[in-house]
Amino acid sequence: MRESARASAREVIVTGTENSARLFKEAQKYIPGGVNSPVRAFKAVGTEPLFIKKAYGCRVVDEDDNEYIDFVGSWGPLILGHAHPRIVEAVELAARKGTSFGAPCAAEIELARMITEAFPAIDTVRMVNSGTEAALSAVRLARAYTGRDKIVKFEGCYHGHGDSFLIKAGSGLMTAGVADSPGVPEDLARHTLTVPYNDKSAAEKIFAVYGKEIAAVIVEPVPGNMGLVLPEEGFLPMLRDITGAYGSLLIFDEVITGFRLNYGGYQNIAGVKPDLTVLGKIIGGGLPVGAYGGRREIMDMVAPAGDVYQAGTLSGNPLAMAAGTAGLKLLRADGFYEKIAEQTRLYVRELKNLFEARKIAVVINFTGSMFTVFFSDKKYINNYQSAVSCDTAKFANYFRLLLNKGVYIPPSQFELSFISSAHEDGDIEEALKRTDQALNLFNN
Ligand SMILES: *Cc1c(COP(=O)(O)O)cnc(C)c1O
Repeated sequence: MRESARASAREVIVTGTENSARLFKEAQKYIPGGVNSPVRAFKAVGTEPLFIKKAYGCRVVDEDDNEYIDFVGSWGPLILGHAHPRIVEAVELAARKGTSFGAPCAAEIELARMITEAFPAIDTVRMVNSGTEAALSAVRLARAYTGRDKIVKFEGCYHGHGDSFLIKAGSGLMTAGVADSPGVPEDLARHTLTVPYNDKSAAEKIFAVYGKEIAAVIVEPVPGNMGLVLPEEGFLPMLRDITGAYGSLLIFDEVITGFRLNYGGYQNIAGVKPDLTVLGKIIGGGLPVGAYGGRREIMDMVAPAGDVYQAGTLSGNPLAMAAGTAGLKLLRADGFYEKIAEQTRLYVRELKNLFEARKIAVVINFTGSMFTVFFSDKKYINNYQSAVSCDTAKFANYFRLLLNKGVYIPPSQFELSFISSAHEDGDIEEALKRTDQALNLFNN
C-alpha cells in the first residue's frame, strides 16, 4: 500500500545515522528520491532511509555501523536470513562459470522442476526477473486464453507495478477502476475491477454484472501488502467456484506466500487449485527472480510454444537459478517451517504482552513466520478498510523508537514483518528486550 502523507515528525528523532543521511543527500543527486523503490525512503515513518553496508543472519549493519535485528528480510525473500553460507557458495560457484548466457542452462530446469513438484497446480513455469513482471505476464496470458479484457483484483492487494494493477476502486462497487498513478491510461484502468478482500457477496455481484467479460481474478491468497490479513473461511474456495462458473481464470499471487508458509504455496494449505500462480521473492534466494506457471494447456500459449509474447534478456539467469535452488533445498529440511512458525508464535505472544501491559491498542495478525502489528483499537483487521483506519502516526513513532534501539521493521504500517530461520532464541529474546525499552518511551 502506498502512503502519501508524511507522518508527523513529532517526538522521536532517529539518531546516530549521520553517514546514512550524507549518502541519502548524495543519492538524491543521481537517483529519483534517492532510492530505487519508494518505500525504502522511509517517508511514511517521517525519517530518512538507512543505507545498509552489510548483513548476515538476522542482522543488518548500516553505514554508521549500527547493527539491527532485522524483521524486513529484504521484504520477503530471505527466509534463511542474510548471506546464508550455502546460498553465497552457490552464487560464487555459478559466477565463476559465467554470469549470464542468454541461452538455456541446466540450472533453469532444476529450479523449474522443484517448483512444479512443490505446486500440484503448476505443470510448467516460466522464469522472469521480478514479481511485477510475473504478474503482468500472467494477466496478459489470462486475457489471451479467455479472449477477455477485464480483471478483478482486491482492494489492498499488491501485484507489482504493472499498469493494470495500479488501479483504485471507482466511486461505487459496480463502477470501473480509476488509475492510481499518473501515466496509467484510463482506457486501461476501466478494465480492472476492484473488490474488498474477504467480501464474497461483492465478488458475486461483480460477476453477476461483468462475469462474461472477466479474464481473471488475481488475489494474494494471504494478503501481505496492506499489512497481514488472513483469508476468511470459504473465501478462496468461493473465488475458485465463481471463476470456474464464468470461464474466468483464477490467479494466485504467491510472490510472498510461495515457500513462506510451507514447502509450496498457500494453495496447498487452502486446498484450492488456481489456474495460474505468480511467484517471486523466496524462489530467487535473494537474487532478482519472478516466475509464473500453471496448467499446461494455458502455459502452452506462451511463446515460443504459443504466440503470447513474453521474453527476457536475463530470464533464467544462472546466478539467480543457483541461489533459488540452493535455498529451496534447505527449506526441505525436516521441521523447517514448524520451527520458524513456533519462533513467530512465541515472539508475537510476548510482543502482545508488551503492548497490553502499557494499554497500547494493537491488533497483531500473524501466520507462519509473518506478522503485522496494527496500531488499531478495532477487534480485527480483515480488509483494506480496517487496515487504513490504523493510527499511522503511532506506528511511525514505534518504528523510530525501535530503530533507535536496534530493531529494524518495515517502514510502513501496511507491510509484513518476517522471521527467518536465522532468528535464534537469543535474537528473539534480545528483540523483545529492545522492544520493551522502546515502548517505555512510547507516548500512547
Ligand atoms: C513483492 C510483490 C510483488 C512484486 O514483486 P517485485 O519482485 O517487487 O516486482 C507482487 N506481488 C506480491 C504479492 C508481492 O508481495
